[in-house]
This record gives sequence, C-alpha cells and structure tokens, in this order.
Amino acid sequence: MSARSAAIYGSGPAGLMAATILAEAGVPVTLFERRPSYGRKLLIAGSSGLNVSHHCGLDEFISHYQGFSEELWRRFFTELSPGAWIGFIERLGLETFVGTSSRYFVREMKASGLLRAWRTHLEKLNVKFMPGHEWRGFENRDGFAVTGLFLGGGSWEDVTPTWPGLMREAGIRVREFEPANVGYEVAWKEEFLKEAEGKPLKNIVLMNRSGSKAGELVVTRYGLEGTPIYFLGQPGPAHVDLKPSMSEMDILKRLQDVRENLSPIRRVKKQLSLGDAAMAMLFHHTTEATRNDLQALVSRIKAFPIELLRPRPLIEAISSTGGIDLNEVSIDAGNELALRKFPSVFVGGEMLDWTAPTGGFLIQGAVTQGAVAGRSMLNYLDRNAPSSGIPESI
Ligand SMILES: Cc1cc2nc3c(=O)[nH]c(=O)nc-3n(C[C@H](O)[C@H](O)[C@H](O)COP(=O)(O)OP(=O)(O)OC[C@H]3O[C@@H](n4cnc5c(N)ncnc54)[C@H](O)[C@@H]3O)c2cc1C
Repeated sequence: MSARSAAIYGSGPAGLMAATILAEAGVPVTLFERRPSYGRKLLIAGSSGLNVSHHCGLDEFISHYQGFSEELWRRFFTELSPGAWIGFIERLGLETFVGTSSRYFVREMKASGLLRAWRTHLEKLNVKFMPGHEWRGFENRDGFAVTGLFLGGGSWEDVTPTWPGLMREAGIRVREFEPANVGYEVAWKEEFLKEAEGKPLKNIVLMNRSGSKAGELVVTRYGLEGTPIYFLGQPGPAHVDLKPSMSEMDILKRLQDVRENLSPIRRVKKQLSLGDAAMAMLFHHTTEATRNDLQALVSRIKAFPIELLRPRPLIEAISSTGGIDLNEVSIDAGNELALRKFPSVFVGGEMLDWTAPTGGFLIQGAVTQGAVAGRSMLNYLDRNAPSSGIPESI
C-alpha cells in the first residue's frame, strides 16, 4: 500500500466525488461498497427523472440548506459549485438541461449512464472498485493513509445501516434518522379515493404554518406526495389553494355569470378546469350545504382545509434528517469534514445531519461535500505523507 493511498467507503454521489478529487490528483484510491453493485440510491433517484441540481443564484441556492452555517455552505460551494458539478457531468459525456421548474436534469433522465461514465472515468484513473465490502469500524485501517466515509442517510434503506452503531461505540454522536422529503398521511374518504387515487392536483399552492409552496401534489391511498408537501410537511392543519391563478372575487364573478340554471358545484366543474382530483375533493370532502352555497364553495376552492396526520416511514422517504452531529466534524479551512476524534477519517454526504429539499439540492449537497472532503483528504496527505514527486505507478 502506498504511503499516500486512500480508502473511500460508499459509492453514492458523495463517495464517487471524493474518489474523483483524490484520483485526479494522482492518489491511489480503493472504493469500497457494502452492496454487490454501485450507486443504488442514485439509481433509485433516477427512476423518477434524474434531477442533479438546481438553476438559481447562489444566495437563493444556499438558503435551501440547513445544518451547517450559511457561511460554511458558501465555502463548500466554492469547492464545487452547481455550475462546476454540471460541467463535470458534461465532461463525462452526458447532456444536461434545465426543466421548467429550474431543475437540472441529465438528458437521459436515468442515472445508469452517469454512473457508467463516472465509473469508467475513475477506472481510467486506476481507482480500484471493491463491491461487497463493508466499513467495520475505526480499528480496521488496512494500511490506508486516509479514509473517507460517505455511507449515506437513513431513507429508502432495506438493510439497516450498521455504521451509526459503530460510530456511537467510538464516542461519536449520531442523531436518530427521521424521514425528510416524505409523503404525508391524510384521512381520505373511500368514495374520494375511488375517483382520485393516483391523480394529480396540478398548479396548486399548499399553505401551512411553515409557509406556502406552489407545485403539484399526487393523491395516494394514504395521503399526499409531491414537492409542496416535501417542502412544508409537518403534522397539523394545512390548506390547498386549488385555483391560485384567480382571486376569490374573480372566481365568484365567473361562476355568478353562468346563465344556465346550474348548481354551484356544476358551475365550478364547467368554468374552472380544476381536474379530476380537485373536483373529487369538492364533491366528497365538503358538506352538501357547502356544495350548494356558491360563496362557501369558492372559499373552499381558495383554501381547502386538510389535516396532515403524520409523515410516511423512513423507508419511503426521499431523504432523512439525523446522522452524524455536525459538532463532530472539523470546519477549519482546508480540513473541513475531518472527524474531530479521528483526524485521518473524513465524512460527507447524507450521513451528516444536514438537510435540503428535493429539486436537485440533495445530490448537489452530497457531491459538494464529497469534493470538500476529498480536498481535505488531499491536504491531510500533503501534511502527513508528502508526495515524493515521483508517480506511484505508470
Ligand atoms: C426515491 C428517491 C428519489 C430521489 N430523488 C432525488 C432527486 O431527484 N434529486 C436529488 O438531488 N436527490 C434525490 N434523492 C436523494 C439522493 O439520492 C441522495 O441525496 C444521494 O444519493 C445521497 O448521496 P450520498 O453519497 O450521501 O449517499 P448514498 O447515495 O446513499 O450512498 C451511500 C453508499 O454507501 C453505502 N454504504 C452504506 N454503509 C456502508 C458501509 N458500512 N460500508 C460500505 N458502504 C456502505 C451504501 O450502500 C450506498 O451505496 C432521491 C432519493 C430517493 C430515495
């Protein structure tokens, strides 16, 4: 083993990016993954259209992240900005585009092409891939000069991660994982579900005490999925504006102007193009008195009350909160993301206790931290195992 060799554990976007930074700098890297194949969660993310980042100004971009301070996120994005990440993907030979929701996608929408191209790039840099190898604790160094752990969060895991227990045994605080970016349960009536299950509530605005978010929701048997709920989800009362493009007054006027002798709910159906799921909500989740009172019905359209009961479980969540307590990692410039108790071990990605909404912010957060940790690992090698200037292998 070379005096400058690095072990990376975890083949998600964070681990792959750390391996890239090290291997491109000439460090011999071995990448271990506990599963038999690589990048499982990235592949899962790609199954609904691989959204790799978000197109907006850096200030707005940073405002979506929680956990580290704003100043530190800014420093992180100096190491690998959204633009630099997109540039890297394109250098791997993949095309990207910005969708209508300002999200960056890879053109093929799946993750398999990106993973394949990334792995080929790393293999050309002599990165050794070792599937079926699990990180088993701090004692087992196997002769590597520096170690990077990028073991992911708690969501969508069919096998319980072992690393939180190993970290806690070593005295590192790890907060329990909780679901984030997750669907919520709503007590729908069966008659409603017969008409609305699986259907979208398009162009709505969701509102609750966390704020308001425009977008699309999908009605599921248990409740609701979709970006607005991922942004705002918390148990308690919420309201949905089913027609945000029109004011209450404008809707009322349009419905009053209908000449035919129609009931209020029929007028809504004829005039407002609300979609099947929204109409089913008005039919099945209002009283008859409301359905027959034009003003009351319009008030419902502008603020339909729903009670968000509880989040769906971790196994169904897109991401998680919890993970390694951020006080356990160094934030010193040039040594960011080193474990304070184990200075030759660096961490990053979703295994740390930060969070961000969907929309490309999660993958971007993971790769950026992979880059930051990779750079810190290089600095660590320079301090502790300086290069002789002679290549290790040709
Ligand atoms: C359904 C779904 C949809 C998503 N959609 C999006 C999206 O559209 N946009 C977006 O930005 N994000 C999305 N995400 C989130 C995104 O996939 C994650 O944020 C990202 O994969 C986190 O990267 P990571 O490298 O930190 O962890 P991971 O990708 O989870 O990688 C961690 C790796 O470490 C391995 N590992 C774990 N323990 C060990 C061990 N002890 N030893 C060795 N290896 C180990 C794991 O097997 C895994 O391969 C989605 C997630 C899900 C579940």
